[in-house]
Amino acid sequence: MANKCVSCNNCGHTGWSKNRGNFLITIVLLIFFFVPGVIYEIWRRTGLGVCSNCGSDRVVPLLACDTKDRNFQLDVMGIVIVTGSIVVGIMAVIFLCMIVYVGVERFIKTGSFLPPKSSEDLYSECFKDGMEHYQSLKQFPMMPDGKTLTMDRIEIYCKGSINGKYPR
Ligand SMILES: [Zn+2]
Repeated sequence: MANKCVSCNNCGHTGWSKNRGNFLITIVLLIFFFVPGVIYEIWRRTGLGVCSNCGSDRVVPLLACDTKDRNFQLDVMGIVIVTGSIVVGIMAVIFLCMIVYVGVERFIKTGSFLPPKSSEDLYSECFKDGMEHYQSLKQFPMMPDGKTLTMDRIEIYCKGSINGKYPR
């Protein structure tokens, strides 16, 4: 842990050191890279820390600091925020893994990342496709044989459609 009693060789300041590095970098790393963020935050808390006055790392240990000046609150806050970030990060990773897993499994089975369509949807898509097909051929509402209703024919061919396309 940083936050040690130190004397600064750079500016002559005496007091409790602060963590080296920057907490903002920890947050950015946690969000984008997570593991390096945790490692960075651990690194920040190791060693003697840096001078709280000038930020220099040219500090030496000292025994004469006033304990009531010690900045406990920042460290506790830091740990709370880091722990919170870790929990949120883990949850986000699990959530992302679930989405990817469901998507990949579906892609292997159906060749598409989209949810499978219901048989009703496929039927109505096929029906619409069939209608357009026969209308463009001017075979609507009656087939060329003059006996079969075009819609009856589409109905037969679209029953149990697996791709929503009218078979031509
Ligand atoms: Zn200093």
